Amino acid sequence: MPIPTELVGSLPRPMKLQDAYADYDEGKITTEQFEAAQDEAAEDSIERLEQTGETAVTDGENRESSFATYNLADTLAGTGAADHLALDGQYFAIFDDGHHRQLPRVTGGPFRYKRYASEFVKKNKAIATKPVKQAVIAPSMMMLLYPLEGEIEGYSREEFLNDCVDECEKDIRQCFAEGAVRVSVDFTEGRLANKNDARNPWTNKNMLQEFIDLNNRVFDRFSAEERKNIGIHTCPGGDCDSVHSLEVPYEMLLSKMFDINAGYFLIQCASESDREEVYRLCGKYSREDANGVPQVCFMGVIKVGDPQVETPEQIKNELITAAKYIPKERLGATDDCGFSPFSRDVKPAHGSPDFARDVAMEKIAARIQGARMASEELGI
Ligand SMILES: [Zn+2]
Repeated sequence: MPIPTELVGSLPRPMKLQDAYADYDEGKITTEQFEAAQDEAAEDSIERLEQTGETAVTDGENRESSFATYNLADTLAGTGAADHLALDGQYFAIFDDGHHRQLPRVTGGPFRYKRYASEFVKKNKAIATKPVKQAVIAPSMMMLLYPLEGEIEGYSREEFLNDCVDECEKDIRQCFAEGAVRVSVDFTEGRLANKNDARNPWTNKNMLQEFIDLNNRVFDRFSAEERKNIGIHTCPGGDCDSVHSLEVPYEMLLSKMFDINAGYFLIQCASESDREEVYRLCGKYSREDANGVPQVCFMGVIKVGDPQVETPEQIKNELITAAKYIPKERLGATDDCGFSPFSRDVKPAHGSPDFARDVAMEKIAARIQGARMASEELGI
């Protein structure tokens, strides 16, 4: 089988759509107008992704406030937030360029998603001519909504974590029920867990093992056959063309991450200085048998924060090198991250989100072509 390819999920939102998000927060447009703007961008995302030759398409997450909050609120400012949430939670991350992203805070139970990703799958299935994939958020990210220290009166940490696991399982199952062929779980907090950033207390608590254990509580609810199509995405962040944890030694994560019983992994790699070492680590730690399913390593061959488009030849060469360490039948190609995981992102290194959207399509097309060339050279 040729080297499979898959995108993480998000694409830069057109400026027009980003303006609609702002207008919605300010009450200048109605919900209908807001959703019409989302639908227009989503439709364009699907159409253009289909033209690149991508196997399974997304709406570029253009209907989502972000990869981590689509389930919690309509916008990043918190418009339409779910019950029992305050907007003053922990920093999810402080990025290298100094900007940060903050999570809401759970104030009581039960914790229920306001929206499930299957809502997007349903809309996308109605307009796509190719298979549809969907990304969902990991319970390990939702875990950060609960105060780091102490317990909420009447809603224990344990009850909250049980709700996180139930809600994530439901999120994944409903995506498949609506017809998604693949569901990947975003796990960008994995590498950040070892950052020890004094400004961001949760990154000092060595939470990686807790994250992995919590995520496995969800994965273990699915059969091996189902887990073939349930993935994990890891990256050092990718927001406003900046990152949050690229300097954290990758092996700290890679030596543990494959303990998650996922069938595939979408792994940032192109922006690493020593990519061959990452291929070696993935070859070393990924498993042929993760409770009945082989783990396929989709290596990131596209830098999402860099407007320079990779050539198919470069991508082919990377995959040929990767195949020295990772069994060919367990090798795939992906992008380092979603191209724009948050709904407000003007893509500063690109000059504009609209240009970045064009660049993203060129990069995806190059990845697909490069993977095809590598497959031919490897004889698969
Ligand atoms: Zn990412």
